[in-house]
Amino acid sequence: MNPSTLKNKQKCHQNLDPKVHTKVETDVKDFLKNWLRDLPRVDSYYCRSTATYKDKKFLYQGTTISQLHREYGQAAATAGVRAVGIQYFAAVFHEENYSVVIPRKDQCDVCVSFKHGNISKVAYDAHVTKKDEARQEKSRDKDSADEEKSIWIMDLQAVLLCPKAQANSLYYKTKLQVHNFTLFNLRPQGGYCYVWDESEGDLCSEVFAHLQYHHFEGVIKGHPDLKEIIVWSDGCCYQNRNTCVANAYSELARKYGVLITQKYLLAGHTQMECDSMHSTIERKIVADIYTPRDYVVILQTARIRPSPYYVKVLKHDEFLKLNGSYFFSIRPGKKVGDLTVHDLQGVQFSSEGKVNFKLSFSEDSVWEELPQMGQWHG
Ligand SMILES: [Zn+2]
Repeated sequence: MNPSTLKNKQKCHQNLDPKVHTKVETDVKDFLKNWLRDLPRVDSYYCRSTATYKDKKFLYQGTTISQLHREYGQAAATAGVRAVGIQYFAAVFHEENYSVVIPRKDQCDVCVSFKHGNISKVAYDAHVTKKDEARQEKSRDKDSADEEKSIWIMDLQAVLLCPKAQANSLYYKTKLQVHNFTLFNLRPQGGYCYVWDESEGDLCSEVFAHLQYHHFEGVIKGHPDLKEIIVWSDGCCYQNRNTCVANAYSELARKYGVLITQKYLLAGHTQMECDSMHSTIERKIVADIYTPRDYVVILQTARIRPSPYYVKVLKHDEFLKLNGSYFFSIRPGKKVGDLTVHDLQGVQFSSEGKVNFKLSFSEDSVWEELPQMGQWHG
């Protein structure tokens, strides 16, 4: 078979509905593509960001092809358009780059690559060492917590959707996304939820900077003896590892004379105490949800002992503008090929306005001064 025949054969196959073996009319295919395009998608923030998943259009977790095909069949019948069979439907679904969302922390790409023989033992061992060092550092921090030193964990819960109903018919109608940013005090243990829906604010770094500033300002004011705060999180760049959040922490450190350190767990191994908060909350979502307020009630009552979670609902006019206050970059390198923010394992803000960074938690690692300090104007 020459290449052009093969190409024609493939092309022809693409336009055949395997169920009925007839050529799929343009209007039938267009209807299907438009129907897929109108499906609600998950904000890319909540999805895995590795190269394999680049350009994917993610649908909500739990979605299945057969469930979608059923809904599509009803829509096609209503519109008076012939519905294609499930195999052709699935082929177009994949061809158009749709996928069902995979939660960010479900598996580690490096560990999976090693399992499939795609990376060397040396690279894998280095990865495992880094993971263990971060875990040990976190455990040491937890043990060192006292009246003067407060240790925190923070993470965003997987998106909460409104409405959320058991009935299938509600699946693909418009949804309002509700975000829940959670913080957990390791000693004494206490959980905090900051909730807002997408009409009040999005998932940009300014919002996360505001949340962290607001939260830790409250912690500092409530604990006058506090001299140091350590905050553990994943290394998500919108949420935790960016200039806007760094400026917010620097402002807090200077204003209240407290040393603040951000530390990041290794990507792929970010399981933390907030996860159990999230599963406690998810277990309580048993009835249908119709408004964001329904989620707030669940958060307020999800835990009783030792104390309920503190829940604050955020409104758009409360978000502070914190960007550009003191410095314009937390990048440890300057030129192309130098270190980037992704290499940072920890960033530390002193009350004198100094910013230090660390690239690992190994025993011989030291805090170094951020070279961008020349850009300070605070
Ligand atoms: Zn791993």
